Amino acid sequence: MTRGDWLGALPVACAREIRTASVEPFLAEMFAHLPQPLELDADVPIDPAAIPLAARQLLKLALSGTQLHPRRLQPAPTLELTVSAGDRQRVLRREHLAQDIAVVAEQVLEALCATEDFVHTLEAFAVQSANFATLQRIIRHMLESTDVDQALHAMLSGITSGRGLGFNRAALFIYDEARHTYVGAKAIGPADAREASRIWEEIEYEDLSIDHLIVSYEPSRFDTPFQRFVQGLELRPGGFDDEVARAVAPDAPLLFPGAPRSPSLGLLTDAAEFVLAAVRPHGQILGLIFADNRYSRAPITPARLHYFDFFVDQTAMVWENLLLLKRVETLARVDSLTGVLNRREFEARFEAERSRALRSQGPCSLLVLDIDGFKQVNDRQGHAAGDDVLRRLGALLQQTVRSHDTLARFGGDEFVVLLPDTPGDHVAQAAVRIGALARHAGISVSIGGATWPTDCADLTQLFAVADRNLYRAKNAGRGRACFGAAEPRVIGAAW
Ligand code: GH3
Ligand code: MG
Repeated sequence: MTRGDWLGALPVACAREIRTASVEPFLAEMFAHLPQPLELDADVPIDPAAIPLAARQLLKLALSGTQLHPRRLQPAPTLELTVSAGDRQRVLRREHLAQDIAVVAEQVLEALCATEDFVHTLEAFAVQSANFATLQRIIRHMLESTDVDQALHAMLSGITSGRGLGFNRAALFIYDEARHTYVGAKAIGPADAREASRIWEEIEYEDLSIDHLIVSYEPSRFDTPFQRFVQGLELRPGGFDDEVARAVAPDAPLLFPGAPRSPSLGLLTDAAEFVLAAVRPHGQILGLIFADNRYSRAPITPARLHYFDFFVDQTAMVWENLLLLKRVETLARVDSLTGVLNRREFEARFEAERSRALRSQGPCSLLVLDIDGFKQVNDRQGHAAGDDVLRRLGALLQQTVRSHDTLARFGGDEFVVLLPDTPGDHVAQAAVRIGALARHAGISVSIGGATWPTDCADLTQLFAVADRNLYRAKNAGRGRACFGAAEPRVIGAAW
C-alpha cells in the first residue's frame, strides 16, 4: 500500500478533511527527524466532524513522508489512533486528541522514544530552529544594507557570532576573474588569543544579540589588524593538493583537516582544521569564505558544517542580488561606451552643483567639447574605429579633470565638464591643456566654455553660453577654444 492509498478506506469527504489539515512546519520537521520510525494504526469515524483537529494533523503527518509511517486504517464508530515503536504503544482516544497537536506529539514521543533519543531529537530540533531564526535575521540585515560592504559584514557576522555559526574567525576573499585570484576583502576575528577572550567576555557579559552586532556596524571599527592582514592576502588555485583549487572544484569538500598546504592559507591559520567554501550562486563564483576556530580549538562538528553549507548558499543569493542591483544602478548613471557619466546623471549633478554655487557664490564653469570631423572617422575607418576614438577621448578626459569636476558624455561626439569653484581664466587654461592632450592622441576637438557669474547672470544659462561659444570655435575653423566674449583661440590643428 502506498501512502496515498492509505485513506482509501474512508469516504472521499472524510479523506479530504484529513488531507487538507494544516500542520505547522516545525512539527513536520520534528517528525522527519525522529531517531526511529513509528507506526500509526487508525480507527477513524467516517463523519469528519467526529475527528478532532489534532487527529487529522497526526494522520496528515503519517501521509507526509515523515518517520511516522501509516499502517492499518479502518472506518470505525469511535476514534482511536495507536502509535507504536516496536512493542511499545501509545493509544490516543478522542479526549487525548482534543488537545493541541504539539501537546499530543510531545506525549507520544515521551512514551515511545527512549529518553536519550528523545532529548537528542529535541536538541537537534532546537538547534535547527535557532539556526533558521539567525539565518532569517542575517538575510534581513543583508537586504536592508545600503551597500554591498555592509551586507557582507552581516554575512560574516553570522559565521562568527555565537548565535550564528560560532566560528572564532571568518574571512572573505573576492574572486578577481581577470587574474584568477581570490583577493582578501573582509574579515572578522581577533588578532590574537588575548583579544579573542576579551571580545567573547564582552559579548557574553553584555549578552549582545546578532542584531546588535550588525546594526552597530561602522566600517572604521572593523578596520582591525586581522582584517588588514586578510586584505594583504591573495589565494591562488594551485596544484592538486592546494586547498584553494579543491574548494572551488564542483564537488568541493568544506572541511580541511590538518595544517594548510597552500602557502597563503598557511599564513592565515595554524588551526587543526578549517573550513573553506566557494560562494557560487547560480554556478558563478563570487568568492571564497574561510572560517576556523583558531583560539577555542573547538572541533567543527558535522552539524555545524551542514549549517555552514546551507548558510553560505542562502546568503550568497542575497549577495548576488545586491551586486546585480548595483550593476543596474551603474548602468543607469554611466555611458556604456566610454564609462563616463551619461547625460541624465550629468543633469542631476548640475542641479545639485547649481544650488551649491548659489549658496557659496563661488564661480562655476562649464566646458562643452565636440570632436572635429568625427563623421569622417566613421565614414573612412568604420563605426568601430569611431567608437574607439570616443573611448580614448573619454579616458583622456577622465584622467585630466579634477576629482570634484563632473565629466559626462552628452551624446554623439560631445562631452561636457562642469568645474565648480573655477574662474574663467583657469577654465581657459584647462581647455587649452585638454585640447593639446587630445591632439597629442590624434583627436582634434573644439571647445566652448562659460563661467558663472562673469558670462551669464543666471546659472541655468551656463550651458547655452558655452554651447554658443562651441559654435563660434567650430565656425572659426575648428581645433579652437572659445570663452566669454573673447575671440576663439587655436588649441590644435583640424583633423
Ligand atoms: P564637426 O566638426 O562639425 O563636429 O563635424 P562632425 O563630423 O564631428 O559632426 P557631428 O559632431 O555633428 O557628428 C557627430 C557624429 O558622431 C554623427 C554620428 O554619426 C556620430 N556618432 C554619434 N554617436 C556615435 C557613436 O556612439 N559611435 C560612433 N562611432 N559614432 C557616433
Ligand atoms: Mg563633431
